[in-house]
Amino acid sequence: MSGLNLAQQEAVNYLHGPCLVLAGAGSGKTRVITHKIGRLIQTGLEGHRIAAITFTNKAAAEMRERAKSLVGKPAKELLICTFHALGVRLMREDGKVLGLKPQFSILDSDDVTGILKDAGGTTDAATARQWQWAISLWKNMGLDAAQALAQAKDENERVTATVMARYEERLAAYQSVDFDDLIGLPLKLLRDFPEVREKWQKKLGHVLVDEYQDTNATQYELLKLLVGERGRFTAVGDDDQSIYGWRGATLDNLRKLPQDYPTLKVIKLEQNYRSTSAILRAANNVIQPNPKLFPKTLFSELGEGEPVRVVDCDNEEHEAERAVARIQSIRANGLGKEWKEFAILYRANHQARALEKALRKAQVPYKVSGGQSFFDRAEIRDLCAWLRLWVNNDDDPAFLRCVTTPKRGIGHQTLGSLGVFASQYKLSLFEALFSSSLSSVLSARALGSLQEFGRYVNDLEYRARHTVGAEDAKTFLADWLKDIGYEKHLYEGEENEKVAAARWTNVLEFCDWMAKRCGGEIDDTAGVSTVSERKSVLEVAQTIALLSTISEREKDQNVVTLSTLHASKGLEWPHVVLAGCVEGMLPFKPEDAEGGAGSESFLARLQEERRLMYVGITRAQRSLVVSWSKKRKKGRDMVATQPSRFIAEMALDKATVKEDPREKLKALRAEFAKKSAEAAAAAAAASPRAA
Ligand code: ATP
Ligand code: MG
Repeated sequence: MSGLNLAQQEAVNYLHGPCLVLAGAGSGKTRVITHKIGRLIQTGLEGHRIAAITFTNKAAAEMRERAKSLVGKPAKELLICTFHALGVRLMREDGKVLGLKPQFSILDSDDVTGILKDAGGTTDAATARQWQWAISLWKNMGLDAAQALAQAKDENERVTATVMARYEERLAAYQSVDFDDLIGLPLKLLRDFPEVREKWQKKLGHVLVDEYQDTNATQYELLKLLVGERGRFTAVGDDDQSIYGWRGATLDNLRKLPQDYPTLKVIKLEQNYRSTSAILRAANNVIQPNPKLFPKTLFSELGEGEPVRVVDCDNEEHEAERAVARIQSIRANGLGKEWKEFAILYRANHQARALEKALRKAQVPYKVSGGQSFFDRAEIRDLCAWLRLWVNNDDDPAFLRCVTTPKRGIGHQTLGSLGVFASQYKLSLFEALFSSSLSSVLSARALGSLQEFGRYVNDLEYRARHTVGAEDAKTFLADWLKDIGYEKHLYEGEENEKVAAARWTNVLEFCDWMAKRCGGEIDDTAGVSTVSERKSVLEVAQTIALLSTISEREKDQNVVTLSTLHASKGLEWPHVVLAGCVEGMLPFKPEDAEGGAGSESFLARLQEERRLMYVGITRAQRSLVVSWSKKRKKGRDMVATQPSRFIAEMALDKATVKEDPREKLKALRAEFAKKSAEAAAAAAAASPRAA
């Protein structure tokens, strides 16, 4: 019971009936769940009889870790997973009564689109996706194809319901289920087969649910059937953090609990252990206008702390640079030592791009969670492999990627012989190319094409070293892509032309970015513009190549987190930057709601947006920066933007809108440049060699 306040202890000790912990952000709800698992085990309940349901797989993995440190070995048997994973478990064990083999397959979204095209006799992906969306909604409402047809309101819905029937037939024939089935089918299983229901109710001694506010109607029913009349469960949640309404989550699940379980014990937690008072006050101010489902108060004893800062920026690039400068200055001041203490949060995945570029430029290691990193895309990794090879010929993994991407008629057998030869003589693959005795293990033709490749790389490296400035860099990069036939390679390797085109656009964006960096950059992070010197392509490649090896090594370790607000739920960081706080992004165009501004759906949307902002603010422990930019790219145009209304609602002191002093930043830059040069040297020294 150590490390728990009285209210938390009460929740942990309440073992024999339904229990709801309702409390604001950072009040220790998740901690209640992990400690309660420990308590249940202590009372003799076996691990396999405890199910803890989390919102994401990642949250499940973290909870398992914490449980392990609390209870040791029995943690292995615990059923800690998402609702969907629990559904899989139920169906692998008992799905046979529904005609499913235990080894059924789970379809991803692309599989589903493909099957729907076939079922509906169309080649049009857009139509198939519309069906997919409608069918998913029906499934989440618990309707099967026949029921959907019976309630169809127009021809369009009737067609969709007919396609759904054919789609379901195909799934059955393929022994496959889709994502929605992972909740819908277990529900059916428990509802229609009493012996299965009794088995699970008997087996599960206690069910715990984290992030309860974001469950949907079918998940509620599933929980109800799992715990039965006795209702041994613990749900923890915060109505102010419900941010998945657009995916069917409903606060009705909170309202219904006291009605469906009259003996429900409701426990409220009021102390926040995460954030300073300044941060908590801003959060409370933002959420305050929303109607209250349950009255709540939240206080912190961590002291007033740093004021929350608002940073005004000119455009998204500027904003990204400021975020990175902020992180560097906190580190330099010793307030945050490790990269993992920082997170930059934003509304939409595409906002990560500008941030990633600024982080790369400053050589700060990072990871993009809950979305794909621009630099992790296959096409960008291909290009980075080439840059790595120019910078360091002995980088064998890069060598192998370049020599085969795009294909240049050098086969696996040739590369295999080269590898054996290189390791025998303790050479890198590149060095081995020009060894005089290589001809003894390779045919003249194979040797010829390998050496031609080697000479080409040498030539590129030479030119990259001597190409300086934006214009020349642009030409150099375009020539290189043409030489290696990269565009053709993309289109040939991808059936879907649109996908290939999008990849090629990424390639061009990457090259533009590199060229721009060769031209010397305007740097106005300190509020005053300075122009850095022009660089050669090789110099720019060096900084990029270094980071691609750092991030490989440090993945998921000591790195700055970039994340969407939705994916940041439940997590915390000492220092947080909330980027892109402009009208139209956060809140996200509530005026597009049906009925326009002032309508009911407008208000509902705005409330959910406010909760999203609340989630973002409350991720911060010690410092919080909220930034926005005066201009934003919209398609090809730049449009003027207004700061988010939530910034005003945070009701911050005027004094908090402060700039970092310019001189300090300059000194910091110099220091970081020195450090990264040292790191570059170290990385080059430790570059991987063939085994
Ligand atoms: P969220 O609403 O964001 O999911 P939460 O209510 O689940 O937050 P936790 O993540 O469990 O909150 O706890 C927030 C932080 O406070 C964590 O770092 C946790 O370790 C700490 N904490 C929780 N309870 C206590 C306590 N009684 N004493 C000290 N620290 C605590
Ligand atoms: Mg939590």
